[in-house]
Formats: sequence, C-alpha cells, structure tokens
Amino acid sequence: MPQNARTKVRRVAQRGHYDRETIHAILDSSWIAHVSFADPKGQPFVIPMLYAREGDSLYLHGSIASRLLKSVGSGIETCLCVTLVDGVVLARSHFHHSMNYRSVVAFGQAVAVEDPADKAAIFERFVDALIPGRARESRAADRNEINATSLLRFDIEDASAKIRTGEPKDDPADRELPVWAGVVPVTQHFGEAITAADVVAGVPIPRSVINLLGR
Ligand SMILES: Cc1cc2nc3c(=O)[nH]c(=O)nc-3n(C[C@H](O)[C@H](O)[C@H](O)COP(=O)(O)OP(=O)(O)OC[C@H]3O[C@@H](n4cnc5c(N)ncnc54)[C@H](O)[C@@H]3O)c2cc1C
Repeated sequence: MPQNARTKVRRVAQRGHYDRETIHAILDSSWIAHVSFADPKGQPFVIPMLYAREGDSLYLHGSIASRLLKSVGSGIETCLCVTLVDGVVLARSHFHHSMNYRSVVAFGQAVAVEDPADKAAIFERFVDALIPGRARESRAADRNEINATSLLRFDIEDASAKIRTGEPKDDPADRELPVWAGVVPVTQHFGEAITAADVVAGVPIPRSVINLLGR
C-alpha cells in the first residue's frame, strides 16, 4: 500500500505496517469497521458497520435510507478503522497499562454498486463473509430486497496497520516493585448454536455452523 503523510504511523512508529498481506490479514480477521465521514455541515460521525473485503475494496451495505450510505456513497473522503483486541497488558505502573492489538486505518472513497445482478452476487459474499458457506444454505435476496438495499464499494487508496504485541513496557525502576505484571489474552470464540424457536421441525444445524464451532 502506498505510504504517505496521512498513513505514516508517527506515534510508536515501529508498530506501523503498510504491506498488503498484513493489512488484508487484519481485515479478514474481523467483521466490523468503524466508518467515519463528515456531513455537508462538517459534522463528523463514526458508525460501526459490517464489511466484506474483495482485493483492496471493502463492500458496505445498508438501507437505502441510511444517511451514512448516502453521504459516503456520494464519493466524499472517507476513513475507516478495524480493530482486533488480543490482550490486556497490565504493567507495574498505571502509566504503562496497555493493550495488545492489531488495527487498520484505511482512507479512500466509495462508489455505489447499482447493477442488480452485481448486488445480488455481493450480498452472497456478505453472508459468506459472516459465516463461510452460509450463502448457499439460505435464500438469496429477491428483487425488492435488492432494491431496498444500498451497496457501496469502498476502494482503499492507502492504509496503515498498527500492531502491538508482547509484555508490558515498564520503567526499569518499577521492575523491583512487588506488583504483578503481564498479559491477559483476549480471544473470540463461538458458543453452541441456539436454534430459533420457529425453525421447521427436523432441520439440522447446517454445515457452515458446525464448521464455525470447530474453528
Ligand atoms: C484497541 C486499541 C486501543 C488503543 N488505546 C489507546 C489509548 O488509550 N491511548 C492512545 O493514545 N492510543 C491508543 N491506541 C493507539 C491509537 O490507535 C493511536 O495509534 C495513537 O493514539 C496515536 O494516534 P495519533 O493520531 O497521534 O497517531 P499518528 O501516528 O500521528 O497517526 C498517523 C497515521 O498513522 C496511522 N495510525 C495511527 N494509529 C493507528 C492504528 N491504531 N492502527 C492503524 N493505523 C494507525 C493512521 O494512518 C494515521 O493517520 C489504541 C489502539 C488500539 C488498536
């Protein structure tokens, strides 16, 4: 990814990464982006949304009435952030408490995807981005649903990743203190699936969900 003035990590610069592989890996490990934009009056907003990545683009979707999709879809400068928390870092001093994380900040502009066939195909990708294999197990969007949904393709112009790993970074003088320090890992896991009360009798838990639980 091109590195420039707006994406260069200045604060703790050694945690910055700009290669596609690292940026894509972080984007593919999450579902939620916080999308920021300013409305025509200059009022800033940050809104969390689902996304599905394809190459250097992220698809965003929502109601055609969504302010965010209308604003961002008009082609204005947009910035979004994806964050994964890997651990809580406990130091001897208050000052050095921290988190282990992987995050991406991406800049770019979005365009609306209008073609109904393209929209239907990308909605499928969205469902599979949530749970791989789920799209073919469930009903595809019909014409009304496609028309009621805005779909944007956010093209990443440039992006940075920032990654913190490892132990607390205490001051040397504090290492003598009788205070516990270390890292409490944070992991995401899937719980047992809960079948909806009105599922047709005898329909089993599908393969996509079983695969998810096995991860
Ligand atoms: C879960 C989490 C918790 C955090 N908690 C704090 C906190 O409490 N206090 C704090 O000061 N900082 C925290 N950070 C770090 C924070 O995200 C910023 O990196 C830091 O505050 C420096 O901001 P800045 O604007 O001065 O960065 P600069 O280095 O000036 O930012 C320049 C450019 O670097 C890139 N960049 C900066 N930060 C990130 C990032 N996190 N991920 C990807 N690219 C980035 C962007 O492209 C940005 O435009 C946290 C980060 C995460 C992921």
